[in-house]
Amino acid sequence: MTGPTPPETDELTPPTRTLMGPGPSDVHPRVLRAMATPLVGHLDPSFIEVMNEVQDLLRYTFRTDNEWTIPVSGTGSAAMEAAIANVLEPGETMLVPTNGYFGGRMAEMARRAGGTVVTVDAPWGEPLEPAAVERALAEHDPDVFGFVHAETSTGVLQPDVPALTEAAHGHDALVIADTVTSIGGVELRVDEWGIDVAYAGGQKCLSCPPGASPLTLSEEAMAKVLAREDPVRSWYLDLSLLEGYWGEERSYHHTAPVTNVYALREALRLVANEGIDARWARHERLAGALKAGVEAMGLEMNTSSEYRLASLNAVRVPDGVDDGAVCAALLERYDLEIAGGLGDLAGDIFRIGCMGHSARPENVVFVVAALGDVLESMGADVDPDAGVGATRAALR
Ligand SMILES: *Cc1c(COP(=O)(O)O)cnc(C)c1O
Repeated sequence: MTGPTPPETDELTPPTRTLMGPGPSDVHPRVLRAMATPLVGHLDPSFIEVMNEVQDLLRYTFRTDNEWTIPVSGTGSAAMEAAIANVLEPGETMLVPTNGYFGGRMAEMARRAGGTVVTVDAPWGEPLEPAAVERALAEHDPDVFGFVHAETSTGVLQPDVPALTEAAHGHDALVIADTVTSIGGVELRVDEWGIDVAYAGGQKCLSCPPGASPLTLSEEAMAKVLAREDPVRSWYLDLSLLEGYWGEERSYHHTAPVTNVYALREALRLVANEGIDARWARHERLAGALKAGVEAMGLEMNTSSEYRLASLNAVRVPDGVDDGAVCAALLERYDLEIAGGLGDLAGDIFRIGCMGHSARPENVVFVVAALGDVLESMGADVDPDAGVGATRAALR
């Protein structure tokens, strides 16, 4: 026989982890069940009904009336690239932030779309100052301004979004917001806040497997896309072509990831069942209990409370402790996933998610107890019992 022989493999049995890192988060059993639903064709009338429902549920979750609201096939980065590649035309200028990992990814995508990148600066771990954004807009006169609403690399929530969108609109720039880690977790109001384009992901606060990623565009932003002279350089993500499938016509462009769309539908139904305001409040309450626990045990948050992101909690690594060894021990001893820092904050912070179905009291008590235990075993000066006590008290 020529060619490879079949590799020896076992039936799939991954460990049962508790996912409290920067994503993916624990998937709700209802979503897992929806994924076992038999497929229909992606142009089946019953699937068209599912598509309409997903679009309506996305509008509810984004707080928008935008007609142009769809799940993009692919992970959050696909929705991100769809936003940037369509809205930014070659030769145009995009203003992006430097205060985290995902602003850097925006810059990279803008360059690949043929744009010129200019930046507005803030240190990693701090939000953008509206005055700095205003100055950068005045200096560079960009066509598009992108910002990250919830920076998963730093645990910073960008406050006062309307101040940024008003400034951008005052300079005729369209605003693209990265809402991957805010959607379904912390307050996000696309229409009221004047966001022109928002993209998101499934596996953060929606607790859905990655694969179909929310995107919404205002009429003005979509008009710009449809009026482009140069076609979008990506055929797959060209929204003027995707309009044929998700718009009135319902004609074939590419085969929708049917199972991921089922999953997203169920994840969004969970948001609607809970109610968006109650869901934001739950994330805030559980992140507060987590903060109470880590502080009482003797650790420090890396972010000030005015811009602390409930869905991603940045906790300072105590002196003399190796963050990677802590994360590995949590996985090994407790089947618990959290993450270390990235970029400018590598080695300085733990990133503890509190997202969607993972944002539950039992998980928060668990993460505080397990983290305290592992840190104590590594000789850090922490009081795990005080941590657990404070978390319990905060949850009462
Ligand atoms: C996770 C994330 C992304 C990228 O999403 P993927 O699903 O990993 O492609 C983009 N922006 C932010 C803020 C994220 O947290």
